[in-house]
Amino acid sequence: MHCLDCRTPGTNSPTIGVCQGCGAGVCAAHARVATRSVRRGSLIGTPGEAEARTVLCPVCAAVEAPAVAALTR
Ligand SMILES: [Zn+2]
Ligand SMILES: [Zn+2]
Repeated sequence: MHCLDCRTPGTNSPTIGVCQGCGAGVCAAHARVATRSVRRGSLIGTPGEAEARTVLCPVCAAVEAPAVAALTR
């Protein structure tokens, strides 16, 4: 699988992940990793929060996580 965004200019970069928004493959340069807090724990036990990870392509990140999309390298 190759990066969808790298494919446009003509280069084929191997992907490191898959966008959770559109399903496109993203390479290390185009991947945007967003974190979100997820509540976990049973109804009886003490609830806690954990950091979950979401991989997005630049296009989806601009819509769903603008702060993450701004982290261009
Ligand atoms: Zn790429
Ligand atoms: Zn996407």
